[in-house]
Amino acid sequence: MGVNAIIQAVYEQVLQRNPGETEFHQAVKEVLDSLGPVIEKHPEYVDAKILDRIVEPERQIMFRVPWQDDKGNVQVNRGFRFEFNSALGPYKGGLRFHPTVYAGILKFLGFEQVFKNSLTTLPMGGGKGGCDFDPKGKSDNEVMRFCQSFMTELCRHIGPDTDVPAGDIGVGGREIGFMFGQYKRIRNEFTGILTGKGLNWGGSLIRPEATGYGCVYYAEEMLKTRGESFDGKVCTVSGSGNVAQYTIEKLNQLGAKCVSLSDSNGTVHDPNGIDAEKLAFVMELKNVKRGRIKEYADKFKVDYMEGKRPWGIKCHCAFPSATQNEVDADDAKTLLANGCYVVSEGANMPSTPEAAEQFIAQKILYGPAKAANAGGVATSGLEMSQNSQRLSWTREQVDEQLQNIMISVHKQCFDAAEEYGQSGNLVMGANIAGFVKVADAMLDQGLV
Ligand code: NDP
Repeated sequence: MGVNAIIQAVYEQVLQRNPGETEFHQAVKEVLDSLGPVIEKHPEYVDAKILDRIVEPERQIMFRVPWQDDKGNVQVNRGFRFEFNSALGPYKGGLRFHPTVYAGILKFLGFEQVFKNSLTTLPMGGGKGGCDFDPKGKSDNEVMRFCQSFMTELCRHIGPDTDVPAGDIGVGGREIGFMFGQYKRIRNEFTGILTGKGLNWGGSLIRPEATGYGCVYYAEEMLKTRGESFDGKVCTVSGSGNVAQYTIEKLNQLGAKCVSLSDSNGTVHDPNGIDAEKLAFVMELKNVKRGRIKEYADKFKVDYMEGKRPWGIKCHCAFPSATQNEVDADDAKTLLANGCYVVSEGANMPSTPEAAEQFIAQKILYGPAKAANAGGVATSGLEMSQNSQRLSWTREQVDEQLQNIMISVHKQCFDAAEEYGQSGNLVMGANIAGFVKVADAMLDQGLV
């Protein structure tokens, strides 16, 4: 069978085994489409059925999460953990709490995580989990009761050498705290079973900042290949959560001007730039008051575009930092027509395949999520190392390691694209470089 037929057969098997899980199909297709030249060069991967194995999670866990709301009513949600691949280390990847969560979203995220974690150069396998619970509008007590119920089941599947979850959409410091407390209570163990912990109980400095900072460091490496820096660049950012906030903080430090923020209701456009003071307002609004981004527009008297995304705003660089498929073909066309030539993905799979195709064809500096947002999980890896050593590193130590990791992630993607004759195509570079390490480890470990 030829290489294309082999890849097509694997993809068809994925469609058949995972009906209706469109996000998972999309993520698998993007990776498989990059791997033709690698499979051609390495028939041993075909003989060992590495492709067939890598698209099938090692373990899938699905469970009931019953909890009681403040009115005394019983609520029932559905929890998941996909332990996708442990060839390089314990499963590692976030937990997402959002009403749209179902198997297809978590499988796409878990699959992406395998390659992302490989690119970090740290010993971590890939996994992802979460629940269709919506934290929006819930009291702190309701969130606590939910988290306790969720962890009561999850705790039997995770552990510091088995599976170490982290945060993602809807899971920040508050939720990690409640889940950590419940794990400790049930197991009577104070161990690093989650990352993103509070600083005085095992967390790492720079972990909250890491995904946003890392995404900017990655974009900085892309700019360096053209002899440019962020000085004076106008940037658009979507989302207003963890990743968006620290993307803006780092861009400000590097001399760029960020002019947008959004949430699922709409976008604010601040042409004067979201400076440190305005960013402090956003952090209080989103992380403490848990309000809507429209309040920014009311406070600073700037435009609010209800139901719109930021991609119609003119910019040099775009940082999608909200959710999957938030940049479609029309958005990409508009961005390119307005002169945008850097896209660095903080969110996971934010560009549709049609949007990504345009970025690649136009040869802009396009950093795909599994490379550009790897700084979050990399710093989670550094948190695990500190937990194992029972030490805490300084802010400077962690930030320097994060920077070095992002430089290395970019170099691996860049070099792999060169090696396979696709110079500058970092999508292909990320998929190949991430894949080869995992595939080789799977070969070494036999048929497991
Ligand atoms: P947060 O929950 O902190 O923030 C998410 C932001 O995105 C909010 O502003 C939210 O708005 C917006 N958003 C979520 N869903 C949608 C939607 N369907 N349409 C429009 N806006 C939406 O999450 P994070 O910042 O942690 O995560 C953002 C992205 O970054 C995700 O794709 C995540 O997988 C990815 N990521 C996160 C990492 C991390 O370390 N946290 C690591 C690597 C990737 P609203 O409040 O209205 O829901």
